[in-house]
Amino acid sequence: MSGVVAGAPGITGTLSDVRPDAAAVVEAARRYTVFEWGTQQVAPLAIERGSGIYLYGLDGVRYTDFNSIAMCVNIGHGDPRVAEAVAAQMAEVSFVSPFMVTRIRAEVGELLAQRTPPGMTKAFFTLAGADANEAAIRTARLVTGRRKILTRYRSYHGGSHGVLAASGDPRREPVEAGMGDIVRIPDPYHYRFPWIEDPAAFAAFNLAQIEQIIQLEGAHTIAAVMVEPVTGSNGLIVPPSGWLRGLRALCDRYGILLICDEVMSGFGRTGRWFASDHEDVVPDLMTIAKGITSGYVPLGACVLADHIADAIEDRPFGSGLTYQSHAVGLAAAKAVLGIYESDGLIDNAAAMGAHLLAGLRRLQERHPSVGDVRGIGLFSCLELVYDRGSRLELFPLVGQAGPAAAEIKAFLTGRGLLANLRGSFLFANPPLVIDAAQIDESLAILDEALDIADAATADRGAPPPAHAANLVPFTPWSNR
Ligand code: PLP
Repeated sequence: MSGVVAGAPGITGTLSDVRPDAAAVVEAARRYTVFEWGTQQVAPLAIERGSGIYLYGLDGVRYTDFNSIAMCVNIGHGDPRVAEAVAAQMAEVSFVSPFMVTRIRAEVGELLAQRTPPGMTKAFFTLAGADANEAAIRTARLVTGRRKILTRYRSYHGGSHGVLAASGDPRREPVEAGMGDIVRIPDPYHYRFPWIEDPAAFAAFNLAQIEQIIQLEGAHTIAAVMVEPVTGSNGLIVPPSGWLRGLRALCDRYGILLICDEVMSGFGRTGRWFASDHEDVVPDLMTIAKGITSGYVPLGACVLADHIADAIEDRPFGSGLTYQSHAVGLAAAKAVLGIYESDGLIDNAAAMGAHLLAGLRRLQERHPSVGDVRGIGLFSCLELVYDRGSRLELFPLVGQAGPAAAEIKAFLTGRGLLANLRGSFLFANPPLVIDAAQIDESLAILDEALDIADAATADRGAPPPAHAANLVPFTPWSNR
């Protein structure tokens, strides 16, 4: 029996000696592998290689990666320095028992401690963001002896059973009962509270709501509040200035731990090492992944403040993974941490972020469908609405998107711009290596795509797609 994709010694394949054809690769991938978060009726791009902000398809087309894949390829694609570091580590040793140590484990532990907020010097290295968050929750419960975790409705903390159930993202629905003692709190989503104009007043209002929830739940029952300091895939919500500091103070007042999920917002994405750095906030537990290796090799970590590290010294830490502190992931992390600094990528994210945000604001001036523009560093999005008065979302986050959403996605891909439209959020999160000319080129394509969104606002007289979609069978939690 012959296969479709090959090239490795000892593997037979019909495509081993020829350039694999994009359609054949898609067909084989669809036949033999499962796609996530939705039905299997997908039409994925087949990618051959990447370089900087670009991905090159097997179809020969060059695509601009305007989402850093999943907001993680911060240093850009195809950097040979990471490949060399990984190969060198593999030649030395790839994998040892979690109870053994390697030089790379010690080195990356120290390098990270020098970059994380002050007094956070100990890391539990995981494989991804989800298991880092699970470890954070378990540790908070262990250290406080309390059960409840406060999370936000607009949040995503990972796809594994526990943290998906703890997330607010609609994808939680099938597993929601999977983690008990989760209490959700409202988001600092100012755009959805237009009747409080002043950002500081809105921050105070939101924190007062959270304080009431803490009091009504009973502070003595709450282990931790877990937040993304800047919400990522659930709407790129940048809280008003002072909000995170206020949340830190609230946690301190009630003896509750603060867990900052920096999986998406960390490693320069916001123009600082971590989003919490903008407010000089030191969490009790911080979770990271994605940018730590820029996605070259899976790796995450749960970073402990020193007082938490002290507390687990003689209490059994309740998390473990075969591949924790994997030497190959850590080798990639060491190389990537060096690249952030040698190439000045975090400063570039701050400078290019300002350029991008200014460009997005110009798009808002031209396009009535753009209700709001939010961003910090190279972490930004446009929120699309029917009209700026009602702020009604143009496309539903839950359920089937209308034809205009599909048209926008097809237009962008057709023009070689891989930008992520999720519900009404059109994200702009390119790799941190992007320059001003590349941003301008991408904005010009977004400009044209927004004409489609503007035209879709004319459907306002008909039932909005969010309602129409509810009349036909669909998988409510899937958003593809
Ligand atoms: N936390 C946040 C804020 C995320 O955005 C994600 C993934 O998108 C995760 C956690 C989960 O990370 P992973 O998919 O690496 O498990």
